[in-house]
Amino acid sequence: MPELLDLLTRQSRDHALILMDPEGRVTAWLAASEYVFGYTEDEMMGQPLDRMFTPEDLARGLHVHELAVARGHGRAEDDRWQVRKDGTRIWAFGVLTALRDEKGELVGFGKVLRDRTDVKAQIEALRQTGDRAKTVLSTVGHELRNPLSALSAASEVLKLGAGMTLQQAGDLIQRQVVLLRRLADDLMDVARVGTAKLRLSIESLDLLALLREVAEELRPSSETREQQFKVILPEGQVWIEGDPARLRQVVNNLLTNAIKYTPTNGEIALKMTVEGNEAVIRVQDNGAGIAPEELPKIFELFTQVESSMEKSEGGLGIGLAVVKAIVTLHGGSVQVKSEGRGKGSDFAVRLPFTQSKHGLAN
Ligand code: ADP
Repeated sequence: MPELLDLLTRQSRDHALILMDPEGRVTAWLAASEYVFGYTEDEMMGQPLDRMFTPEDLARGLHVHELAVARGHGRAEDDRWQVRKDGTRIWAFGVLTALRDEKGELVGFGKVLRDRTDVKAQIEALRQTGDRAKTVLSTVGHELRNPLSALSAASEVLKLGAGMTLQQAGDLIQRQVVLLRRLADDLMDVARVGTAKLRLSIESLDLLALLREVAEELRPSSETREQQFKVILPEGQVWIEGDPARLRQVVNNLLTNAIKYTPTNGEIALKMTVEGNEAVIRVQDNGAGIAPEELPKIFELFTQVESSMEKSEGGLGIGLAVVKAIVTLHGGSVQVKSEGRGKGSDFAVRLPFTQSKHGLAN
């Protein structure tokens, strides 16, 4: 047993094991201590652990406090950032234990800790996702308000028969119901993104016909913003294997964004080309553009809700995550290019032809 213990204290790559005298000066520098902190036993013997505390913690007197807590309560939790010899920081989970002899006399301290910088990063990412989810919920609240007040106005009309014709009230209700349904669909897709729950029902479809239809559906909202909307598609048909409803959603989300993030009089283009074994759909605009640091995050769920709200465009940061999930399930990929803020955006969706009989046909 002592032999194995000896091997463990010398060979462990995970746990730093440090023994100290009652004043907190190192008397043994064991196991992974050198590996974790970079200091050798010679450098640490007789020294306090102060140099491994961050300047912030030292300023708060944590190095003294921790020993006092262990002295008083037998142990002190020790989960915090620590500084290595080379100046880098690690997040360590550790415990400082007060060691007492049979008479209860304090004879020293033992510290066992493990570098879990990886876990800290995961915790931080979860916290950010939680924060973003809260922002989304409050945005959902805002998005529900407008249709609700419109519907409430329409119901007044139906009750009192005043102000609007029944036809107008009916139209208004229908428009708001479409908005609410879209919101509900987006929210349901959130849970499906990244899980097996997003299912495709694949069939052979003419991609060009689908693109023309979605473009015509969205043309009116682009015209309302007096934008130039160019649809540049080859003649004929392009057959691929795909889920028509989901692919519509992809093109719809990209075009809706292009319209939304491009100002009045701006330009929007929908293009499709066949490149090798792929159909490439491009949605381009000369609008708001995307800053280089935002590009890598743009397809993540809930990304940029805040900045899009700054642009007072609402939005939940769901659309592009859904685009990516659907395209990936089709065996394809989606890329974005932008020269920066205010310089327009260029989205490319690549969908593979799964069988050779598919492709461009006249
Ligand atoms: P939403 O538009 O609801 O915020 P999306 O997932 O569709 O969510 O888009 C995420 C973010 O990407 C948007 O908030 C916006 O900042 C940015 N974005 C998407 N498309 C464009 C575009 N065509 N031009 C500029 N920014 C865009």
